[in-house]
Amino acid sequence: MNKNNLIYLDNNSTTRVDPRVFDAMAPYFHELYGNPSSPHRYGLEASIAVEASRLMIKKLFGIEDRELYFTSSATESINIAIMGTAFANFSIKKHLITQATEHPAVLEVFKSLESLGFRTTVLDVDGQGFVDPQAIKNAIEPDTLLVSIMAANNEIGTLQDLVSIGKICEETEVLFHSDLTQAAGRYDFNVSEIKLDMISGGAHKIHGPKGIGYLGLNKTTKKIRINPLMYGGGQENGLSPGTLNVPLIVGLSKALEICEENRTGETEFLNGLRQLFFTTLTENIEGVHLNGPGIRLLNNLSLRFDNISSNDLINGIKTLAFSAGSACATGEGKPSHVLRAIGLNDSQIKSTARFGFSRFNSGHEILTAANEIVNFIKLKRK
Ligand code: PLP
Repeated sequence: MNKNNLIYLDNNSTTRVDPRVFDAMAPYFHELYGNPSSPHRYGLEASIAVEASRLMIKKLFGIEDRELYFTSSATESINIAIMGTAFANFSIKKHLITQATEHPAVLEVFKSLESLGFRTTVLDVDGQGFVDPQAIKNAIEPDTLLVSIMAANNEIGTLQDLVSIGKICEETEVLFHSDLTQAAGRYDFNVSEIKLDMISGGAHKIHGPKGIGYLGLNKTTKKIRINPLMYGGGQENGLSPGTLNVPLIVGLSKALEICEENRTGETEFLNGLRQLFFTTLTENIEGVHLNGPGIRLLNNLSLRFDNISSNDLINGIKTLAFSAGSACATGEGKPSHVLRAIGLNDSQIKSTARFGFSRFNSGHEILTAANEIVNFIKLKRK
């Protein structure tokens, strides 16, 4: 709980910066503030920090050579991966495949490409949000360039079967991109084992700073032709030009490092919190339904409550911070495309709330939060 007495349960939207991340970043704001491209000692110190961060992240994902680039967000990384390869291969291949519950950072790029003359296939998902790898295989055509499938869904926590999809993309020689934004740091992703060709992610879902992302390219098996979307000073091999944001890069690698070091303990801890929250609700009120699969993104829960709208819940319980569906969808006031894709009707979508847990939540907070919801719903249903 913070000083406003507000319990934060919106950790799929963004997370609090870990104090260890903040401490690692701090010197790069006020002492080591050089531009990594500069030839003097300030530049060298900044450049050493950037390259150490790059090395750490490359190792984490099993990326060889120099092919890990820093971007300003996961969104930018996804745009470069999909649009950049589409533009570079336009004269040869014009078909791209994704699935219906991707983040708008993917779906909107697909729409834009469609308007520019590419052909796109957006595959349906089942009632728990899974895309069938066989459907991907069937959708691949001779001029299919790329398949983009997220690792973990930000609303309903579905973990896609990247291994099976990777095999299909390897056999068919189609590029395989994955948006790892919600899942990196929480699970193991070795690009060669999963046969991933491109990965995108960011820092702020795992207690790192906002405004920093990464694009990883795995060029060991396939040739990846990719164009920049912006032009400038040539930083990051020309793919993401602009002066590097050294403190944020350091924060990103520190955030990933902390996740990696504490993975087992944190997995247990978050599972425990989520279970406590879920059982407290289901044992005390009727009509609580889980959206998405039982085995799901570690820190995510999407629930709907019969005859209770999530807006009533959010506005009625002022001591809890959580969201209706997803932050992005609610910001626009549109019904969630993810909940729609898994077959929910309007009233089910309206009654859906998303809860995201983190290392900074305590068991006591979770119990308090669940009891407040129980009490509110009991009163509302009287
Ligand atoms: N992909 C997924 C799955 C996300 O959850 C988000 C953030 O909500 C993004 C991409 C975009 O991240 P950012 O807004 O940090 O660029």
